[in-house]
Amino acid sequence: MNQHDHQIHEGESLRSAAQQRLVAKGEQWTDMRAAIFDALAGFDKPASAYDIAESVSRAQGRRVAANSVYRILDLFVASNLARRVESANAYVANAHPDCLHDCIFLICDTCGQAVHIDDDGITGGVRQAASAAGFSAQRPVIEVRGTCGDCDSD
Ligand SMILES: [Zn+2]
Ligand SMILES: [Zn+2]
Ligand SMILES: [Zn+2]
Repeated sequence: MNQHDHQIHEGESLRSAAQQRLVAKGEQWTDMRAAIFDALAGFDKPASAYDIAESVSRAQGRRVAANSVYRILDLFVASNLARRVESANAYVANAHPDCLHDCIFLICDTCGQAVHIDDDGITGGVRQAASAAGFSAQRPVIEVRGTCGDCDSD
């Protein structure tokens, strides 16, 4: 990885890093956005907009529509607060809202957990290969399906 202060956040520290990042982008950290971020960060595996709508509805005791969750998730992805795990059709909170990487996800077919790694050497190589083929890469999606260490040892 290139030289920078790469910080992986969790819990309170993740929440405040996400909040700071969103505000720095000129967006408001509304109660609804905060509730959706908390719900997303609370899942231990990639969550769909429906999973998140359910969780927020339960916490707030009122119905939250999946559509409004989608809109906020889109904003989160665009602002580097969340990542979409394409092959799981779901979202995870981005543990490093302060810095941009082409995150690589390892997704367990048994338990559904997604392990996240950053390796700019690999993703940079993919971007270079795309560019050598005359293709302008916006977002390499590198996801590996398989079995996680926990499930493998069962
Ligand atoms: Zn970084
Ligand atoms: Zn990452
Ligand atoms: Zn597993």
